[in-house]
Amino acid sequence: MNAADFPFSPGNGEIANKSDEAWNMLHSCLENCTECPLSEGRTKVVPGEGDRKSPVMFIGEAPGADEDIQGRPFVGRAGQLLTQILESGGIRRDEAYITNVVKCRPPQNRVPTVQEMMSCGKYLESQIALINPRIIVCLGNTPLKWLMKTTEGISSVRGKWLTWRGIDFFPMFHPSYLLRNDSRKVGSPKHLTWQDVQELRKRWKAAAEASRSTSEGATE
Ligand code: SF4
Repeated sequence: MNAADFPFSPGNGEIANKSDEAWNMLHSCLENCTECPLSEGRTKVVPGEGDRKSPVMFIGEAPGADEDIQGRPFVGRAGQLLTQILESGGIRRDEAYITNVVKCRPPQNRVPTVQEMMSCGKYLESQIALINPRIIVCLGNTPLKWLMKTTEGISSVRGKWLTWRGIDFFPMFHPSYLLRNDSRKVGSPKHLTWQDVQELRKRWKAAAEASRSTSEGATE
């Protein structure tokens, strides 16, 4: 397997089946990546983390300052809030796989440019192919617009089930937006997010059950 095998696509099952080798290669390529200007300012690349066999994948925008230092996604204040949100829905964070559209921190946490997202896109595509999730949760406007190629904003589609390449796609507010909008009143972003996580939990449990049945069937 070599760099020419990128991106791993759902149709490239032979590579995806060599899962450990594929993940190692992906991480090695990420650590050495200089394909966009974000490589110049990074401390650590932030590939993503979590259960690689999870039926659910969370995709945020980009690493922030804490993530850049630790090389792990969603570990700052927004990440702690994400963990709390999931726990409020009875979901453990380590049950999911969590990553971002771009893997290096943009300066001053600005939104990644289209060019940066295009450069980094093959890594996200490969992660999705390797994980093969049943549900993708996008956190905020950037992954929503990048993946769905839509001009609609997160406020108008959050909490609605959409479909992306046959995968259930669930937009939610980004936790940093919730940090800036702290009200818990009925109809506030935090209140809506609490409702969204209950909805997500229902489909997540069904997806986890379906994944378990599939893998048990495969081993019989
Ligand atoms: S953001 Fe992505 S494409 Fe740009 S340098 Fe980092 S890993 Fe490479």
